[in-house]
Amino acid sequence: MIEEKGILFILSGPSGVGKGTVRKELFEQDTDLRYSISMTTRDIRTGETDGIDYFYKSKSEFESLIEKGQLLEYAQYVNNYYGTPREYVERTLAEGHDVFLEIEVKGALQVKENFPEGVFIFLFPPSLEELKNRILSRGTETQDLVLNRLKEARNEIEMMDAYDYVVVNDHVDHAVEKIQSIIQSEHCKRERI
Ligand code: 5GP
Repeated sequence: MIEEKGILFILSGPSGVGKGTVRKELFEQDTDLRYSISMTTRDIRTGETDGIDYFYKSKSEFESLIEKGQLLEYAQYVNNYYGTPREYVERTLAEGHDVFLEIEVKGALQVKENFPEGVFIFLFPPSLEELKNRILSRGTETQDLVLNRLKEARNEIEMMDAYDYVVVNDHVDHAVEKIQSIIQSEHCKRERI
């Protein structure tokens, strides 16, 4: 079977849907995938490590990456920049490895413009009520911020039609299983003798 380039998988969806948790569980189980570590200007959180969770950058460093065209996509989210390093993604795909991005919706739509052959997976909350509970249960946000995030989540959900797959995150294990099936199917689709 000939499969030269790797496949780019993009996991996206509204804030609070559990993208990070699903992605971490997937990586516990799948060692062939390569995770693209994002750049961000947000502060490092307790328990996070520079170069593992994110590459933490100052605003001016980040803006210089934008100017030099070194980001495949970027977006502002809650007053911080987040972006995907272009060189890592292109090189890793060219080496024949699958690359996995976990990013918010505006960034995913930019990737689609540059990489229409990417596989776009939308993680969907079991319900808007459940999403609200998840955002509230983080406990770190003011009521205004919670309302803003919910409004943003509703806008993001409207973008769902641009994706190839929708996975309902009713349970982390089920969502991970479905994403693994998607990865397998996409390989079968591309296999040629
Ligand atoms: P957090 O600050 O909680 O780690 O992430 C906030 C949001 O930014 C999440 O929705 C996460 O998926 C998204 N995100 C992380 N990395 C990137 C990236 O490189 N690009 C974009 N557009 N969003 C990202």
